[in-house]
Amino acid sequence: MTAEPRRFVIVGNGAAGTTAAEHIRKNDPESDVTLVAGEPYPLYNRVALPIFLRGRVQERNVMMRTAEVEEKRGVRLLLDTWIEAVDAKEKTVVTREGRELPYDRLLIATGGTPKPLALPGADLHGVYQFQTLDDTKDLIARIQESRSAVALGGSYIGYELAEAFSHRGLHTTWIMRGDRFLRRLLDPDGGRVVDLLARDRGVCVVYNDWSEEIRGRNGVPGCVTTVNGGDYAADVVGYGIGLDYYTELAQQLGLEVDKAIITDEHLRTSNPDVYAAGDVAQFYDVIINQHNQMGTWDNAVSHGRLVAQNMLGQNLIYTEVPTYVTTMFGSRLSVLGLTPEQHPELEREVQVNFDTRKYRALFFYQGRLVGAVIIGVLKGRRKIEEVIKSREPVENRRALFDLLGPIEEPEVLED
Ligand SMILES: Cc1cc2nc3c(=O)[nH]c(=O)nc-3n(C[C@H](O)[C@H](O)[C@H](O)COP(=O)(O)OP(=O)(O)OC[C@H]3O[C@@H](n4cnc5c(N)ncnc54)[C@H](O)[C@@H]3O)c2cc1C
Repeated sequence: MTAEPRRFVIVGNGAAGTTAAEHIRKNDPESDVTLVAGEPYPLYNRVALPIFLRGRVQERNVMMRTAEVEEKRGVRLLLDTWIEAVDAKEKTVVTREGRELPYDRLLIATGGTPKPLALPGADLHGVYQFQTLDDTKDLIARIQESRSAVALGGSYIGYELAEAFSHRGLHTTWIMRGDRFLRRLLDPDGGRVVDLLARDRGVCVVYNDWSEEIRGRNGVPGCVTTVNGGDYAADVVGYGIGLDYYTELAQQLGLEVDKAIITDEHLRTSNPDVYAAGDVAQFYDVIINQHNQMGTWDNAVSHGRLVAQNMLGQNLIYTEVPTYVTTMFGSRLSVLGLTPEQHPELEREVQVNFDTRKYRALFFYQGRLVGAVIIGVLKGRRKIEEVIKSREPVENRRALFDLLGPIEEPEVLED
């Protein structure tokens, strides 16, 4: 494609920002592309942080790019550089050190940062969030000095921490506020399957409770006390209680911001020269005809690819079905498309077998399949995605389960 040379600045070098930067250069080799990385690393695989935490892979296996590769691809990568301000009139972003970077098109792909844990003892050395490579290194160092651990949070990050702690042989307690894991996504049967899988691994799961205080010994954690009177040994504590999205730049630009940055179906914000992609984009989703936000790697990569084309002048519409696949205490959890987590009004069809620890839920909106959650190996994923993408009404909902294989057969997976 031919396009005038233009200056593109991309803030955030995660999956969305890096993919966008590289695709802009690929499609327009004359373009001037600056990719600003708040962290001191080129793109690394955030999805691989849990297996790095478990000790299954080395740090080098987590890295996905080097500065040299970006240079070869024609991307000017600025590491360890934080964009603090943006000037809509001058069309420049400004680094913390005061350096100005002019743009014709700006992409905000800044993701989010963990919500802080606000309780006494949360500032002890040995209490960690789990979002970045540096967090993971800190956790690993502390795990090596620990015998017991508490994971806080009933969502994906809480699970990943509980899984890693138990995998590393620590006596592990997993505490959550709700009565089951992912209470907005799984129904009680799905929650019970996860509970069985966790207990099979020796994890002590505490429901309907929350930490009140992290009590320290010599400046490091010793135990976590809870509002229901629990007292759980913890040499290390990890927490995951949601993300706050980096929307400050969008706010400075006067863009429409809700939980994250509002875009249209082309990932364009209310300023025609400014786009948002990845976790930080609350994009107009044509599958459900409303705004939507996805915290998945696939979504970030697909956003990056599409937004690159649109920043170069195209008008493509985002129609991908995002997927989130992770291990689940020796099994697998796969989440496809839309779920009640984002849209509580979706209808649900469920199939469950507690003996084989398998669970499937299909989600429907106005008679169409829009999403699914599967515990156990996900067979037939492409078919399910095709049905979702077709946006055709589904006559026989239960027949869709046949695409996923028998639920009575147990599976043993390596994690
Ligand atoms: C531990 C963990 C496990 C996960 N597991 C899975 C999984 O199994 N499957 C899955 O699909 N997804 C998973 N995810 C989610 C997935 O990693 C994210 O959805 C995806 O990485 C988001 O990519 P992004 O490019 O939108 O944002 P990010 O990867 O968050 O990148 C944004 C970058 O922008 C930087 N930044 C922010 N503001 C500024 C600024 N002002 N100036 C400069 N830089 C800035 C940030 O520091 C960050 O490096 C996991 C996430 C975590 C943390």
